Amino acid sequence: MPSSYRELKERAWAANQEIPKRGLAIYTFGNVSALDARRGVIAIKPSGVPYEKLGVDDLVVVDLSGKIVEGKLRPSSDTPTHLVLYRAWKGIGGVVHTHSSYATGWAQARLAIPIYGTTHADHLAEDVPCTAIMSNQAVARDYEVETGNQILECFTNRDPISTPMVLVAGHGPFTWGETPEKAVYNAAVLEELARMAFVTKTLVPSAARLPKRLIQKHFERKHGKDAYYGQAESAAPAPTSATLRALRTRTR
Ligand SMILES: [Zn+2]
Repeated sequence: MPSSYRELKERAWAANQEIPKRGLAIYTFGNVSALDARRGVIAIKPSGVPYEKLGVDDLVVVDLSGKIVEGKLRPSSDTPTHLVLYRAWKGIGGVVHTHSSYATGWAQARLAIPIYGTTHADHLAEDVPCTAIMSNQAVARDYEVETGNQILECFTNRDPISTPMVLVAGHGPFTWGETPEKAVYNAAVLEELARMAFVTKTLVPSAARLPKRLIQKHFERKHGKDAYYGQAESAAPAPTSATLRALRTRTR
């Protein structure tokens, strides 16, 4: 009998294939999940399966409490982290975790990625945040759930829709988006921003952040209500007006 989750699994499979294709992971590193919000389930990469051997039917369907709904394989060990984010943030439809080199480098250095240029400002209007390092007590609890909690804590005063990425200190990047495709796009963008910022900081360790007027101009021309970058069907999600109001206050 064909799976009623076939379409969701196909979408998650295709998004997972983007990870090696964009050079974001080697071997079995990394994972992507896709949400079916209506049915309250995600499809996620199984644990330890290399991308070239991954078939659509290998994807595991899990409900938002972590119970396996369909699939013969064990879901990615990072599944609980993905679930923490889906449960907390309405409006995200895909989550990605990689150990892409430059983004992981910044995470290992426990540094936020400074907003040095317009490439960065085209995608988010602040530094790429870095979480605190996990405490001994948290490691002793449920490690993957605590990784999710670390991210939520880092977003206490942030909007995850307008800042769709984070560095988990000592570990690596997580990104998300309104769709799984957008979440993978954000993972690739993050790696590029991390690489550019590394070059900038290497050339001039005291390099200045982009002035606020340019941050605002670039972010809003792509994401604001009067956005005019690209064609009408832009790949970039539009943040809520509350986000834009917060941004205006923050970057003034
Ligand atoms: Zn990891």
